[in-house]
Amino acid sequence: MQNNNLSHQMSLMHALIRECRAGIPKEVEAMARKEGLSSNTLAHAIAMGKVSVPANPRHCRSAVAIGEGCLVKVNVNIGTSAQRCDHVLEVEKAKAAISCGADTLMDLSTAGDIPSLRRQILSLGVPMGTVPIYEAVRRSGNAVDVDADLLFQVIREHCKDGVDFLTLHCGVNLEALEALRSDPRLMGVVSRGGAFHLARMVQNGEENPLFSEFQYLLEILDEYEVVISLGDGMRPGCIHDAGRLAKSIEYLAIGRLSRQCLDHGIQRFIEGPGHIPLPQVGYNIRMIKELTDQAPLYLLGPVVTDIAAGYDHVVAAMGSVVACCHGADFLCMVSPSEHLALPRVDDIVEGTRVTRIAAHIGDCVKRGEAWQRTRELPLVEARRDLDWESQFREAMFGEHARSIHGRDGAVETCSMCGDLCAIKLVKEIFEKNHKQRE
Ligand code: SF4
Repeated sequence: MQNNNLSHQMSLMHALIRECRAGIPKEVEAMARKEGLSSNTLAHAIAMGKVSVPANPRHCRSAVAIGEGCLVKVNVNIGTSAQRCDHVLEVEKAKAAISCGADTLMDLSTAGDIPSLRRQILSLGVPMGTVPIYEAVRRSGNAVDVDADLLFQVIREHCKDGVDFLTLHCGVNLEALEALRSDPRLMGVVSRGGAFHLARMVQNGEENPLFSEFQYLLEILDEYEVVISLGDGMRPGCIHDAGRLAKSIEYLAIGRLSRQCLDHGIQRFIEGPGHIPLPQVGYNIRMIKELTDQAPLYLLGPVVTDIAAGYDHVVAAMGSVVACCHGADFLCMVSPSEHLALPRVDDIVEGTRVTRIAAHIGDCVKRGEAWQRTRELPLVEARRDLDWESQFREAMFGEHARSIHGRDGAVETCSMCGDLCAIKLVKEIFEKNHKQRE
């Protein structure tokens, strides 16, 4: 399985990084226009591993740039579970996510015909990620029996199908397991992928093959031009656990693996950091960025309070905004059903919209006040003019806004103040006063 031939190792490099180190490829020019960046800036960031573009040549038709200087991107997770396995519903959820502005999708299916659903979601044309250990566990029957060959075979199959990025929990290693034992946590392990690797290591006493065979893994990713998302299998599952050792040990490992990716020109994201009290978010984000040479950072939340079940999408958005102020690049949608159930279509819609709002506020912070004023001015002018059609056109979710405005009947103002509309009153009094002065 291993290929330790040094000259072969040194030849690894994703084509996009190679091209960006040599000049400015055409697809980078197009992406730079979308991002409002110069082509040179974007090509340099890709060459330095600060921006990654998940775009498997077997699949991707709408590449997106994720990382430093780019607009904040949103991923939406869909996928079956043993309790609810309905492919039609999952495709419907994926389409709903795209219509609400998802930049990428992840299929986290753990039940049914996983390859068939994966290909259906891939056919929607949006960059897509998966977590191959899920399918490997299903195929072997349980987590402890997943052998390394099967895991690498599943990874290869996902790459061949055209998956653009893979979450791989390479940092869940024996050292992290020892940290978990020596410094126990209230919630143990809440990452599904992390738990599968951990179960295997506890049962067999063997190192995680994604860690011990990392070089081989890079060769597969290089062959198919697939981005690795270094998964945070030891992320804390409650704020009580935020300062425990296992997470930090995993991040040290991820930092080393991220450097290995960079040295070999393999594009990567970093995932993290789980449930974190709000005052610790900035520190965590800056630490991860530093440890990983400013690699693109992909977050779920952080979740900044544990007691708002049913509203964790709002909680995560609050954490995300603060994280974006400190350098987060890529937000994973959290739905109202987080910690409670598999999301339904309406959960996906609500979660995606709220995450998109967090991403927009992140963009406003990153790009500055002048950028925000220019971006938002048309809506403000329409609001001042009581021009409802223009407001609905400029709003992030215009049809939703229209449905709320219309529910008390059509009026010139809105039903909040009705005939005592402050905007209308002041506008009329100024106009009258202006005429009297003429
Ligand atoms: S009625 Fe009140 S809330 Fe509605 S547009 Fe006028 S000032 Fe704003």
